[in-house]
Amino acid sequence: MNTSIIVADTICPICFQGVLRRYVKHVAMDYKGRVFEQDQPGDWCDKCGEGILNGDDLQATEPAWLAFREEVDKEEGQALARIRRKLRLTQAEAAKLTGGGKNAFSRYERGEVHPMPAVLNLFKLLDKHPELLDDLKVQ
Ligand SMILES: [Zn+2]
Repeated sequence: MNTSIIVADTICPICFQGVLRRYVKHVAMDYKGRVFEQDQPGDWCDKCGEGILNGDDLQATEPAWLAFREEVDKEEGQALARIRRKLRLTQAEAAKLTGGGKNAFSRYERGEVHPMPAVLNLFKLLDKHPELLDDLKVQ
């Protein structure tokens, strides 16, 4: 069943080749390597696939998207805390190791501040290879 309707006289403002059709599209969005899927109403281009979303379209889906991102950020902070404890580092030592301010890890772990990808990547590696921490510690 095709329930889409052509949005009257509307050429896609993105590719200028397609026609916009209003329907609910199942979309997948990526946030920090995690995929979030939802049904997004909007005016969708039949050529390039891009969508034009009005205020109601965004209001229908934005709370779930923001909640998903918040959950991912929270899990990120919890993962950092778990790895730091596994490495037997204090928050101050972890901050010194990654070049952050002395309260950086406390703020990362509470989800107040998003760490740089380099910090997350370093801790992911140290989680798999904790013995490498010895090479990083100042002699
Ligand atoms: Zn288009």
